[in-house]
Amino acid sequence: MAFHFDQSSDALRKRLFDQLGDQFTAFEIAMAQSSPTSIRLNPRKMNGLFDNQEKVLWCPQGRYLESRPNFTLDPLFHAGTYYVQEASSMFLYHVVDQVLDTSRNLRVLDLCAAPGGKTSLLQGMLHHNSVLVANEVISGRNKILRQNMIRWGGDNHIITQNDPKSFQKLPGFFDLVLLDAPCSGEGLLRKEPSAIEQWSERNVLHCASRQRRILSDVIPALAPGGFLIYSTCTFSEIENELNMKWLQENSDLTPLTLEIPDFWGIHQEDHGFPAYRMYPHRLKGEGFFIAVFQKTSGKPFQSKIMRSTFRANRFEGSIQEDNFWLKAPERYDFLIRDQHRIAIPKALSKDFLDLSLNLRITSSGLNLGKMYHGELKPSPELALSQHVSIDLPNISLDSECALDYLAHININHGLENTEGRYLVSHGGYGLGWLHVLKTGQIRNNYPSAWRILKRHPQK
Ligand code: SAM
Repeated sequence: MAFHFDQSSDALRKRLFDQLGDQFTAFEIAMAQSSPTSIRLNPRKMNGLFDNQEKVLWCPQGRYLESRPNFTLDPLFHAGTYYVQEASSMFLYHVVDQVLDTSRNLRVLDLCAAPGGKTSLLQGMLHHNSVLVANEVISGRNKILRQNMIRWGGDNHIITQNDPKSFQKLPGFFDLVLLDAPCSGEGLLRKEPSAIEQWSERNVLHCASRQRRILSDVIPALAPGGFLIYSTCTFSEIENELNMKWLQENSDLTPLTLEIPDFWGIHQEDHGFPAYRMYPHRLKGEGFFIAVFQKTSGKPFQSKIMRSTFRANRFEGSIQEDNFWLKAPERYDFLIRDQHRIAIPKALSKDFLDLSLNLRITSSGLNLGKMYHGELKPSPELALSQHVSIDLPNISLDSECALDYLAHININHGLENTEGRYLVSHGGYGLGWLHVLKTGQIRNNYPSAWRILKRHPQK
């Protein structure tokens, strides 16, 4: 169902008419068309899929699909080999690529992160010794973020659930803060036409003032020389340009200009600071706004952790078990948390400690699994990790059997007599675990909460 302005959206139509001038007719025609489907490949789980599809101009891993498949019925989707993401928001790739040297070890905060589209994009760009903090304040959405990041399979992110003002406890910590702000969502109306029911001028004003509050809360967490990327998926000037003007007047941040090829169709305006807009009538994507600022003053973060405290908190070494499950166990420190064995990349353990002393963490490090009677029951997270050992006993399933596995339908793979735990994979990528008991009984360890419910939706 495409979007059409009707009586209920009259005020928005009028505002956009004034805003777009002679481009309004082209805009209105584009809004009535269906939105393109796009996905972004996981650069650390490249699968050669979608190679022949049209590329998104501003993101090398972005692809347009000709039609929208049922992603639930693609095991490679569940294996985290790609993320379904709206094309305009992938423009973040170009911005980060232009302003930051991602081969350096960086500290990055994605402040409003769920469901994790931009977090996974950033994870795919950053060096594995960079720390990526993904924050989501709303509990239900934090859970979705965790699940999506588990699928993506990195080990250098921490997921937190904090109000933005909590980040003031980490002054000067981050080299990059992404504020993909909660907004009135006008730019996504073509994808979700029913969202117009929530639109009102009052809500636009409410969003704008909340965005300013979040901006002021998080600026102190930027390191000197650090970058702030502000983005929204709305067309409203109050939430975009006016907030950036306010930021420029009320902070010591300097606006940055990006280099963008004209043929990409990205609208650039100078308001005393450059701002970039994506409109559906000018490019293949939805409405999006982005602006970049750099902090030039301030002091870098001073950790309050004494060397001795850090040593005392440093985690125990690996046990034989850990070496068995991981590609490069020497990269990690290990600890036990609620009977779970957690691997923390060594290069990040000091930062992880600083973060955990100041924030509410909902997930950090790579959870290898739970210890039972001295034996590790591997976690779903480990099966999906980019870092799981490639030498584990493995069962490779074709697409149909993989879907049966994901739906908890019994699969019989001639394993009854081979007791042990098996990594279930499809196309070379882990999905989960199967446990063959002494009795020959097969246990499907794919989490019931993730199970696909409509195995054959057409029936
Ligand atoms: N960055 C995400 C992505 O690319 O998948 C989308 C983020 S969405 C535009 C904005 C997020 O801000 C939502 O997940 C919402 O729950 C969160 N949010 C809502 N109110 C907030 C607040 N007061 N402070 C911080 N985050 C908030």
